[in-house]
Amino acid sequence: MAERRRFKKRYCRYCEQKVDFIDYKDLQLLKFSLSERYKIMPRRLTGNCKKHQEMVTAAIKRARQTALIPYIVDRKRVVENPFELIK
Ligand SMILES: [Zn+2]
Repeated sequence: MAERRRFKKRYCRYCEQKVDFIDYKDLQLLKFSLSERYKIMPRRLTGNCKKHQEMVTAAIKRARQTALIPYIVDRKRVVENPFELIK
């Protein structure tokens, strides 16, 4: 329930920022659609539009292959905001 409340306001954040193309190297963009365990957030939680969700999914999968983001995070290393560790 707490998690659901976090995403109550539903709008596409990529449309809001007028993003036409999601680069897999741009982790600041990808993080809107990643959970704290680096899982791709479903569209029903993030409120992304279909066009951007498909783009971001492809970008995240590409970023995983290039080792920019991990595929899985083990239980001990779960942190509140994983993007503070990157940079
Ligand atoms: Zn959109």
